[in-house]
Order: sequence, then C-alpha cells, then structure tokens
Amino acid sequence: MSYQGILQQVKDNNNKVEKLKKHNEPKDRGFGKSKRKCRRCGRRGRGIIRKYDLYYCRQCFREVAENLGFKKMD
Ligand SMILES: [Zn+2]
Repeated sequence: MSYQGILQQVKDNNNKVEKLKKHNEPKDRGFGKSKRKCRRCGRRGRGIIRKYDLYYCRQCFREVAENLGFKKMD
C-alpha cells in the first residue's frame, strides 16, 4: 500500500500520523526512478522510456507509438 493510502487509514490518530511521517515519509530525491514520471498517465518507477526524451511508460508507449511515427518491425 502506498504512503498516501496509509496516511488516509491512520488520519484520526494523531500519534500514528506523526510516527508515520517521521519514519515513512518519502524522500524528495534529486535523481532516481521516483523522480521520473510518465508524461501521459503519471506512472512512476520501472518501465519509463527515456530514450529520445520520450518519458512515456511502457504501457502508454505501446498505445501512442504509432502516432509518434514508430513502426512495428518483425
Ligand atoms: Zn503512462
């Protein structure tokens, strides 16, 4: 479960919220996979295509590739 989801679950217990923030708040990183985002759907993590500055995730790339001029080779 995501950090946001857990925050939603414990939001009524202030002690737990503070503990959660102290120990589990995501770091704001200067680089790395959490910094890269799909420009179409916002997905993070693995499978973001950066080649040619595309920044699409693999799922979106599959859908928009033909519009961008990519052709399927066999
Ligand atoms: Zn995407």
